[in-house]
Amino acid sequence: MSYDKNNIFAKILRGEIPCKTVYENEYVLSFYDINPQKKIHVLVVPKGEYIDLDDFVSKASEKEIIEFHKAIIHIVKMLKISNQEAGYRVLSNIGKDGGQEVPHLHYHIFGGEKIGKMVV
Ligand code: 5GP
Repeated sequence: MSYDKNNIFAKILRGEIPCKTVYENEYVLSFYDINPQKKIHVLVVPKGEYIDLDDFVSKASEKEIIEFHKAIIHIVKMLKISNQEAGYRVLSNIGKDGGQEVPHLHYHIFGGEKIGKMVV
């Protein structure tokens, strides 16, 4: 499968669709999910064109991979839900069985309340 440049997150990254930005740097954009499943529900996407985690790890530079994960830690600190504070959950849906709807790698960050069962 090749990367679909017209997926919704690609459009958000190009500024064609608005989003409520949480954090942005050279490598990532983070914004609030349009349909929050928990009190805090934030998405983090790499700026490069990667479909999912497999694609990212096989094609991205080590710098991109490191910066993506560092950004998550920065964001949870910004949101005051880091491991030293309330805690949170990070989740990435991959492919059909994983329930991935948008074919641009994204991590969901859930927090602000008890998240509950790991999988429902
Ligand atoms: P997935 O099921 O692919 O892991 O998650 C896609 C997520 O993107 C869903 O939680 C959905 O609510 C969110 N989403 C879809 N379209 C938009 C949009 O246009 N803006 C924002 N902020 N989130 C979106």
